[in-house]
Amino acid sequence: MSVLVLATRNKGKIEEVQRLISQHAPHIQLRSVADFDLEDVEETGTTFEENAILKATTIARQTGLPALADDSGIAIDALGGAPGVYSARWSGVHGDDGANITKVLTEMDDVSDSERGAQFVCVIALALPDGRHLTVRGEVEGKVRRSPIGDYGFGYDPIFQPAGFDITTAQMDPETKDSISHRGKALREIAPKIAPFIDA
Ligand code: IMP
Repeated sequence: MSVLVLATRNKGKIEEVQRLISQHAPHIQLRSVADFDLEDVEETGTTFEENAILKATTIARQTGLPALADDSGIAIDALGGAPGVYSARWSGVHGDDGANITKVLTEMDDVSDSERGAQFVCVIALALPDGRHLTVRGEVEGKVRRSPIGDYGFGYDPIFQPAGFDITTAQMDPETKDSISHRGKALREIAPKIAPFIDA
């Protein structure tokens, strides 16, 4: 039985990863970083890759076990790719979704309908205690609406309308969002790579 430590303390994320990984590698047992007495890793990187690798390699080194970490956010074309890695703290207060949305909508007030393109991005890093690591990147294209709508999801979901849909990701049931989302894509890509990498 191999053990894999997930960098997240979020139960929903752990269950989602468990569902996908168990299809590819039933012998891998998932543990949360919350089961270990560790300080949160500070996200000091300037790219999603840097932050995901930083979290995964730090946790793998500290626990002596393989670790999986993700970093995600929204990159808005008209804002030069911002908020990017600063998505969770764009308004200055970490995790204040309402304030983050208000700031983005204010900054985009004079941006025309045809120039409101954006991507949700998720990078997942898998690391071993000796520092070896690999990453995958999932993206979903869309545009930023002019006002929030929808009650599902979190973060920027109420203002993000994926390409090919006329609703936001906050109006999608979780299964539909998973099937098109940046996180779903990255997870489906890394799931079959985990066992070969940590068992090699
Ligand atoms: P983190 O990867 O947990 O650091 O999340 C970064 C931030 O990006 C979140 O706090 C949200 O603001 C935003 N974000 C990432 N993924 C999503 C998503 O699926 N929907 C909406 N916002 C997201």
